[in-house]
Amino acid sequence: MIAIYPGSFDPITLGHLDIIERGCKLFEKVIVTVLRNPAKNPLFPVAKRVEQICECTAHLSNVEVDSFTGLTVEYAKLRKAGVLLRGLRVLSDFEKELQMAHTNKTLWDGVETVFLATANEYSFLSSSMVKEIARFGGSVEHLVPPNVAQEIYLFYKKGDR
Ligand code: ADP
Repeated sequence: MIAIYPGSFDPITLGHLDIIERGCKLFEKVIVTVLRNPAKNPLFPVAKRVEQICECTAHLSNVEVDSFTGLTVEYAKLRKAGVLLRGLRVLSDFEKELQMAHTNKTLWDGVETVFLATANEYSFLSSSMVKEIARFGGSVEHLVPPNVAQEIYLFYKKGDR
């Protein structure tokens, strides 16, 4: 079974990476898909996020990284994927994720959403929190993969925030 792991990944965090690594043990293949969301003002362009994810998942042989504009279910159909993989952190994720899972099911019955509970140490970690810390000069090495930390530091040092 092929699973899609869709998200903004702006940037990818150790919490995301943990879900990818565990998903790889459950599914034949995990396709990490950066969804273009015109409503969000991203830190990194989509191509850069794809590159960052490729680098930090290079040790996983059954991961593919891609990007997509449009509905996640359309992408799942295109890739013949039967599963949408999502991570669940705290209770506040639950309502939004459940709504999304139901909506996707109404759009295409051929897909199941599978939730993995976040590892305890990452349950309060989000991409926006990483950006907030970095913007004020804090350290993010314990929150994101090393290649991503370097690029975040570079971005904020240049002052183009
Ligand atoms: P989106 O914009 O779709 O919420 P994100 O990049 O924020 O995209 O998250 C993608 C997926 O990863 C979501 O299912 C989200 O709940 C999950 N996720 C986000 N942060 C973490 C974390 N720290 N640990 C585990 N899963 C996470």
